[in-house]
Amino acid sequence: MPTPETEVSPEIAPEFAAEFAPAKINLALHVTGRRANGYHMLDSLVVFCGIGDRLRAEKAPGLSLRLTGPFADQVPEGADNLVLRAARATAQTAAITLEKHLPPASGIGGGSADAAATIRLLRRMTGATGPDADTILALGADLPVCLAGRPARMRGIGERLDPVPPLPPAHLLLVNPRITLPTPAVFRALARRDNPPMPATLPDWPDAAALARWLTAQRNDLEAPALAIAPGIGAVLDRLSACPDALLVRMSGSGATCFALFGQPAPAQAAAQAIGAEHRDWWVAAGPVLR
Ligand code: ATP
Repeated sequence: MPTPETEVSPEIAPEFAAEFAPAKINLALHVTGRRANGYHMLDSLVVFCGIGDRLRAEKAPGLSLRLTGPFADQVPEGADNLVLRAARATAQTAAITLEKHLPPASGIGGGSADAAATIRLLRRMTGATGPDADTILALGADLPVCLAGRPARMRGIGERLDPVPPLPPAHLLLVNPRITLPTPAVFRALARRDNPPMPATLPDWPDAAALARWLTAQRNDLEAPALAIAPGIGAVLDRLSACPDALLVRMSGSGATCFALFGQPAPAQAAAQAIGAEHRDWWVAAGPVLR
């Protein structure tokens, strides 16, 4: 219940609100070290894609979650769902519906996107300002960048965000072979944890081809360990590499989702249709890089 001090005017406290929870893609992901507490230090170019989950919230005296959408049965139903964990961290109540379109545990930060969208929703509906930065980070390393919701260079253990040069128009094709890869297992399989960071200064990228050329000199350090655990990822990388006009092919996060970067939407959509028809058991989606 809001106290008199936290009561807000009706125009910033709507009865219903909706939020999009976009997929997070690591265009580059360098693992640069490990802290004494076991957390890995990262240096990552993170962008968001116009493919994602959808959340709706309605004012209610208690907190509840209803799951719908194609991946509803693959996320926790109860208190462990990141939507409910994020809602508890804001200390607000609502009846929330999560329409789950992103495959869970697939390196595109769906859970973090949902948690961030929940925080945005509840802040908008209640005027709440929480949770604080430490609580946000404790929900997940991708939470701060998902909450910011803008392309960013993410460093530290996910808490340090810097703006990046304007991104050129670009499109992503995302493919997941429906292999679930637990993130801790992939980090454990890393051969080394003291890899070089990205260059100190990020250049301007006048177009998608320039971005792809620059990215070619960067890496996803988790790709090799993920491939060692799940060799099936190799088939996805090979298939994406065969797509006409694909400028760059790489795995996102700790996998198993891989992406191809395009300068135009049409070849991304055409490749999505072709791969979807060839591999009916793979998850395939295409959308713009959100700028
Ligand atoms: P990251 O790239 O941040 O490692 P990911 O894409 O690999 O994330 P998520 O989809 O965020 O993985 O899911 C990670 C774990 O969180 C899964 O094991 C899943 O069961 C749990 N989880 C809890 N709530 C959710 C949710 N709303 N959506 C997805 N996963 C959730």
